Amino acid sequence: MSLLVTGIGELVTNAGSPEAARAGDAPEGGASAGVERAAYRGDPVTRLGLVPDAALVVDDGRVAWIGPAAAAPAADRAIDLGGRAVLPGFVDSHSHVVYAGDRVAEFTARMTGQRYDGGGIATTMAATRAASDEELRGLLAARITEFRAQGTSVVEIKSGYGLTVADEARALRLAAEVTSETTFLGAHVVPPEARGDRAAYVDLVTGPMLAACAPYARWIDVFCEPASPYAFTGEEARTVLTAGMGAGLLPRVHGNQLGHGPGVQVAVEVGAASVDHCTFLADADVAALADAAGTTVATLLPGVEFSTRSPYPDARRLLDAGVVVALATDCNPGTCNSSSMPLMVALAVREMGMSPAEAVWSATAGGAAALRRSDVGRLVVGAAADLCVLDAPTHAHLAYRPGVPLARLLDVSEHSSAR
Ligand SMILES: [Zn+2]
Repeated sequence: MSLLVTGIGELVTNAGSPEAARAGDAPEGGASAGVERAAYRGDPVTRLGLVPDAALVVDDGRVAWIGPAAAAPAADRAIDLGGRAVLPGFVDSHSHVVYAGDRVAEFTARMTGQRYDGGGIATTMAATRAASDEELRGLLAARITEFRAQGTSVVEIKSGYGLTVADEARALRLAAEVTSETTFLGAHVVPPEARGDRAAYVDLVTGPMLAACAPYARWIDVFCEPASPYAFTGEEARTVLTAGMGAGLLPRVHGNQLGHGPGVQVAVEVGAASVDHCTFLADADVAALADAAGTTVATLLPGVEFSTRSPYPDARRLLDAGVVVALATDCNPGTCNSSSMPLMVALAVREMGMSPAEAVWSATAGGAAALRRSDVGRLVVGAAADLCVLDAPTHAHLAYRPGVPLARLLDVSEHSSAR
């Protein structure tokens, strides 16, 4: 049953031009990395492929037609959005949302300037290990509902709070029930019980844990951060990623968050889809990311700096060098407990020097590139009909009206009563 969506005041297609959106080029999704450097270096507003006074036809969950409202074809059903802006559903390419418990006491202590040794990730690890499957499944479902209520249609979910073979496999099994973008992060930190023998823990991660987790995961990730005694060195990261790739997983990296380090270089070297955080970068790191722009995305997570009162990454430096930039939440119980992509867009504009157009692209098409998806993050013929509706006339209102609940996903299913 087809659905005609009219009354779209401004349609963000991310196709580079309205003509390209109508022609369509995203039928299958999947493996193509998806960012052409020439198009990416162009004007950020042009890249959004804006269609004013637009209409769009959805058929079988896919975009079937895009164009000016005046030329719209007939469909089985129709809804009128009354001049609202529509953009692709946000693609949040970085989250850690399979966990139990919270760390609000740790957050409060940090914000009140008190010393607090709450144990960080170990606290969440203990609560997560103690939770039943049903508890974790319920918590995860509530979080996914929260993402969707704010316009996010694709969420990547990492393991990393189990850190035993059984607990990591369980986290990924549960995550795979709600997303196809699952990431094995057994190398999140060395857990307390393994700190006497790091090499043995890396052997566990790359051996039995990888074997148990690979069936439920698409990606392998590692927290490469020599500045932290509990995270992993460049050499350990290379070992973890290489093993994961050998098991058929695709690499991505947490790097350069707390200080300068080898994360970016390792990510580029193994052809990672994304290196995430990128707060402390040497000129050579920026140059390497610019050279790898068709392969490796720099994913910035400004909610972390916001939530920890830390300096933001320099998005302007990356963009001006031609690096492909994505925005994601890093939603997690410790350093950023926000599932709000609109907040990340507002922070990117206000705190990291991105224009509204750049931030909206990075939160949609950028996230898709970081997940090597061409079927999401764009509204072109053949793409997934993930429509994020704003209670506002243009995409710029996302940053202009921070904290206001403007974004939601449009239910295009057959049984919905339109809006
Ligand atoms: Zn993270």
